[in-house]
Amino acid sequence: MKRLIEESQQYLMNTYSRFPVVFRKGRGCVLYAEDGKEYLDFVAGIAVNVLGHCHPRVVVALQKQAQRLIHVSNLYHIEPQIRLAKLLVQNSFADRVFFCNSGAEANEAAIKLARKYAKEHLGENRYEIITAYNSFHGRTLAALTATAQEKFHKGFEPLVPGFKYIPYNDIEALEKAITPKTCAVLLEPIQGEGGVRIPDKDYLKNVREICTSSGILLILDEVQTGMGRTGKLFAYEHFGIEPDIITLAKGLGGGVPIGAVLATEKVSASFTPGTHASTFGGNPLVTQTALATMETILEDNILLNECRRLGNYFINKLNKLKEAFPDIVVDVRGMGLMIGVELSRPCAQIVKACFERGILINCTAENVLRFTPPLIVTEQEIDRVVETLEDILGRLS
Ligand SMILES: *Cc1c(COP(=O)(O)O)cnc(C)c1O
Repeated sequence: MKRLIEESQQYLMNTYSRFPVVFRKGRGCVLYAEDGKEYLDFVAGIAVNVLGHCHPRVVVALQKQAQRLIHVSNLYHIEPQIRLAKLLVQNSFADRVFFCNSGAEANEAAIKLARKYAKEHLGENRYEIITAYNSFHGRTLAALTATAQEKFHKGFEPLVPGFKYIPYNDIEALEKAITPKTCAVLLEPIQGEGGVRIPDKDYLKNVREICTSSGILLILDEVQTGMGRTGKLFAYEHFGIEPDIITLAKGLGGGVPIGAVLATEKVSASFTPGTHASTFGGNPLVTQTALATMETILEDNILLNECRRLGNYFINKLNKLKEAFPDIVVDVRGMGLMIGVELSRPCAQIVKACFERGILINCTAENVLRFTPPLIVTEQEIDRVVETLEDILGRLS
């Protein structure tokens, strides 16, 4: 394993700070490293492995499709792509789907779609998109510009024109930010990378009303919150609203790289042949795998119900840690199995201590521990994580 890690450091561009481990195999919520050590995985590829590692339904779909047909161009109709689009439409506000390969790409497509729609329906000069501070929308140039966090912009200027930033969860700021140039508002229903921030109950409803009355589009970035993560298939369902566009990626393929843009009929109509495309977008291999993933999530709603139940179970236990360690634990928040624990200090040390004890968790916004385990996680696995955290916090305080 040591040799592999040295070669990793030699041959790969240095864009990630990685933990010193190489995984060989995964089953359910457990990862097995090259040196034989086992890790309980509460990162799940950052909200990607919704069904855990190597779920049999996902593996069989991949194997069968690999034998049948791996890739053909979007110059032709693709059966699993059609079936996945139909399933997404039948289970959402949307009428049509565009497939791409990642979250950033999905947001790029949504930005292009919103601009094109606005030019056609609102006027030539309507191109500005309002996004929120602390957001995260991806690393391509437009998605990076939409991400209103300076630390991600530094060194990559000039950014893409036509973006404006407002504080999240502040409806007055949004009202003030809208001008005759505005074409859309792009928000995460829960800010993930920004520290698992959940807006007030009525915030998105008010945003929806403002967008409707000013004729601008509401785009929700559900790349992290979508596909059951919050206990509903899509997070917007919690807030009693329907957006005009959503973007998906992370959990959509159960581990294979796939992204999607979902929109209403009226908005979708602004994409016509030649306006947008992707060579790999929605290819047979990834859409067949995503179809198996989504069918499993939807089956009798079992996983969605379990996600809500286990999320509450986990949050209750974490709140007990907050009571026990009020100096360290500032806040516990989450929806379903997207959970953040805000600390009064940077969390790197705690994440490292968990790693050393065979538990993978993640840190976001410097001081928020983030838990995004597979939706198939068990109470016993949650108990083990909470007990380990209790022990680590006990030693720190
Ligand atoms: C991860 C993430 C993205 C970026 O997705 P990539 O697949 O890494 O491009 C975009 N938006 C949100 C909300 C995310 O969590």
